[in-house]
Amino acid sequence: MKKEPDQKKLAALVKGIIEELGEDPAREGLRKTPERVAKSLTFLTRGYRQNLKKVVNGAYFESGTNHMVVLKDIELYSMCEHHMLPFYGKCAIGYISKGQVLGVSKLARIVDMFARRLQIQERLTEEIANAVMDETGAEGVGVVIKAKHLCMMMRGVEKQNSEMVTSAVLGSFREDAKVREEFMSLVK
Ligand code: ZN
Repeated sequence: MKKEPDQKKLAALVKGIIEELGEDPAREGLRKTPERVAKSLTFLTRGYRQNLKKVVNGAYFESGTNHMVVLKDIELYSMCEHHMLPFYGKCAIGYISKGQVLGVSKLARIVDMFARRLQIQERLTEEIANAVMDETGAEGVGVVIKAKHLCMMMRGVEKQNSEMVTSAVLGSFREDAKVREEFMSLVK
């Protein structure tokens, strides 16, 4: 786990960016901006300072069945590691437990833990899938993320409506086409 960022150091760096962009960091509206940005960046990357065991905190429930559990439309906000601009969208997680299910809110927290870092969508998808697999001991896990990237919308190709879709499948979701199809049809 990483240490908490030094707020003064971070604020000084942000001030440097503002200056280099040709702005005056002493002007009224910008005076407190370095501190605010430092605080904001610290929050947006807090996933680095979290750990999976603590996030899940033993919130398991016994379940007799081995049906597929799907949680859809988990809001997701992350930051692309190439431009440090946000990408945001929805995440769906499905898994087939071997008798142990995870509290629903914990799935959302796992998403947050990995989203609040500098990320690429592909890795984020895989990290969530691996974490759910590890934490539930499920026979299979599937994760789908649909997200819009501000680095594409505001700059570069300026494609306003393109959405990136990534998926990661593990265990029976990978090996069994029927299981995978069931999941994909549920998250459509
Ligand atoms: Zn980017």
